[in-house]
Amino acid sequence: MTLELINVWYIVAAALFVFGLKQLSSPATAVRGNLLSALGMLIAIVVTLFSREIMEFRWILVAAAVGATIGAVAAQRVAMTAMPEMVALFNGSGGVASLLVGWSALYNTGNSTFTVITILLSILIGGVTFSGSIVAWGKLSEVMTSRAVVFGAQRFVNGLILGALVACGIVFCMEPGLQSPYLYAVVGLSFLFGVMAVMPIGGADMPVVISLLNSYSGLAACAAGFAINNNILIVAGSLVGAAGIILTNIMCKAMNRSLANVLFSGFGAVKTATKVEGEVKPINTEDAYLILEAASSVTFVPGYGMAVAQAQHVVRELGDILENNGAEVSFAIHPVAGRMPGHMNVLLAEANVSYDQLVEMDDINPRIGNIDVAVVIGANDVVNPAAREDENSPIYGMPIINVDHARTVFVLKRSMASGFSGVDNPLFFGENTRMLFGDAKASISGVIGEFKG
Ligand code: NDP
Repeated sequence: MTLELINVWYIVAAALFVFGLKQLSSPATAVRGNLLSALGMLIAIVVTLFSREIMEFRWILVAAAVGATIGAVAAQRVAMTAMPEMVALFNGSGGVASLLVGWSALYNTGNSTFTVITILLSILIGGVTFSGSIVAWGKLSEVMTSRAVVFGAQRFVNGLILGALVACGIVFCMEPGLQSPYLYAVVGLSFLFGVMAVMPIGGADMPVVISLLNSYSGLAACAAGFAINNNILIVAGSLVGAAGIILTNIMCKAMNRSLANVLFSGFGAVKTATKVEGEVKPINTEDAYLILEAASSVTFVPGYGMAVAQAQHVVRELGDILENNGAEVSFAIHPVAGRMPGHMNVLLAEANVSYDQLVEMDDINPRIGNIDVAVVIGANDVVNPAAREDENSPIYGMPIINVDHARTVFVLKRSMASGFSGVDNPLFFGENTRMLFGDAKASISGVIGEFKG
């Protein structure tokens, strides 16, 4: 294949990535966007394989078959609730793949200084992304504590690791080679730095880390593209890197925090929220039905618990019943609800909730005082008034959906347990709050049963 023809195919692949990304911005076109981007990647892989004078395809085919099988089985088997963990593992895989590509470029002789620097960057960023993503996976799957892990002198220790990483990187660039001990030092230190950088971030700040790691995986791929002089890898890496940065920015805005504040505020100063006490007012499905039956406006506020309960279909059914009963129904979505960006949108789209009924936090808050009933379905942190009122709270300053301002609030959850951030929620003790304890799907089904008589 001539160089011109290869680049023409690469342009086709890049165009498919861009159109695919554009279509991912709306739930209505997202599936098509995903397929377009996947087609672009297939073209990129096939063209690359046939342009590299590969003598022996056997191991490539074996690796592709093993990878495709693992991917297909994992995608089939993964529960909707485990998607965020899977995304974290994807980011980590991207990071380690770039590390290996960068490393393999050292087998080429006569690399220029620029190429060596890009090899170093792909190894360094890839290593940080890999180990950081494994820690993020551990926190999301709650294999380890989801809270910030901090200790004295953490900044100093991290500064030392970063300093050593940069120093080893510079020495490696001066005398690169597969035998260089500094290569191994860079790999080891980048793994260590990834762990140490993600450990002190926890609780409600995790969305920012996930999107940042996503961006790093793109930057590592971009560096690997320069390292092996492959244009489409540079383009694909840049797109992922840029998309990840945009998402990180959106998540920071959703938390009302700067990136620096998220990355470094965990160090040394973990705040302790004021203890919340009081009496809760439980309600059963019959009484909830009576209130909902009389309501003329109802807003559902979904959270992670809706994903756990897989309650999205019954929630849509209840929404339809309420609408037929004459109520105005909306679904208010907080940008960090659930465990991955867009988590609630995906679930509600799966249940065919109309897009016109979806309302963003900034649109619902100004008029939430006029809503008769706000039904909180397995959401906790994103409706926690402590974020607005308690300066000692770790989530202080994070914008929330002000469900406590609605005339009546139903909170559907199984217990008094706190949300992902581990912070108590004063909403549960509110004058206008009624707790509907139990699995969200069972509770909503119970209310639907009452409506159906
Ligand atoms: P939370 O994690 O704050 O709360 C979820 C609630 O759901 C829990 O309090 C739990 O209470 C309840 N729940 C669990 N299972 C069920 C069930 N079967 N039926 C009913 N309720 C159930 O969720 P939010 O969506 O409010 O907030 C998301 C949190 O996750 C934020 O802190 C966010 O920063 C963080 N995060 C978000 C990410 C993202 O990208 N969106 C990524 C990583 C973290 P109980 O056990 O009593 O039932």
